[in-house]
Amino acid sequence: QAFPPLLSVDGIKVHYGAIQALKGVSLTVGKGEVVALIGANGAGKTSTLRAVSGMLKPSAGRIQFNGHETTSMKAHQLVPRGMAHAPEGRGVFPNMSVQENLELGAYLRKDTAGIQADLEKSFTLFPVLKERRKQMAGTLSGGEQQMLAIARALLSKPQLLLLDEPSLGLAPQVTEAIFRTLREVNATGVSVLLVEQNAHLALNAAHYGYVLETGEVVMAGPGKALLESAEVRRAYLGE
Ligand code: ATP
Repeated sequence: QAFPPLLSVDGIKVHYGAIQALKGVSLTVGKGEVVALIGANGAGKTSTLRAVSGMLKPSAGRIQFNGHETTSMKAHQLVPRGMAHAPEGRGVFPNMSVQENLELGAYLRKDTAGIQADLEKSFTLFPVLKERRKQMAGTLSGGEQQMLAIARALLSKPQLLLLDEPSLGLAPQVTEAIFRTLREVNATGVSVLLVEQNAHLALNAAHYGYVLETGEVVMAGPGKALLESAEVRRAYLGE
């Protein structure tokens, strides 16, 4: 399966003071593709997503998105270009209702009818959000907040959805529901770059995967192939 290019990350380095978190990471995400980034704690997964979404600026390397050089762009410049980031820790606004959080996701859009239709769509994807649309987001369960963060990101109508640890702290059934929804979202043409500690889940869901170790890509391949690799099974699947 060949995907036309959408995101291309080429040799990016990220430093936090004296700490080098990324030592030259390269990866690509195609149009319609789901790509997983796996690796241990501190491997650099979150830093990679932050660099891609413009939350931090790499000290070296290049990022291109949708045919444009975006290396130095900030998050607010990337959202209108079709990139949405559902960060680790969810980042929903606790003192706003579910509905208000969702509407914020669409703040750059002017197509009122389209927004309304997409709100309804997110309620179809996540029925629990419909039931709770008047409830303050801070009172939702962890899983519900995760769903809200994903739904809110989708309301910007992204071509690329960046997802950080969607399974973190969630019960297996909730995680399963989220991954099922991810497949539905992807089926509508949205590309996904997914960071996950749960390698099994992530590689099962992904067309392609990258393994990060101490700031470097040490292995890459189709999700299914990585799942079958002895090295991945030993290091990341506890076998
Ligand atoms: P985790 O799964 O634990 O979130 P990760 O693979 O996402 O890990 P990063 O969060 O990208 O890894 O961190 C990569 C390295 O950079 C780690 O050694 C981490 O301690 C360091 N690091 C991350 N953020 C900062 C920061 N703000 N200041 C200093 N060091 C940081």
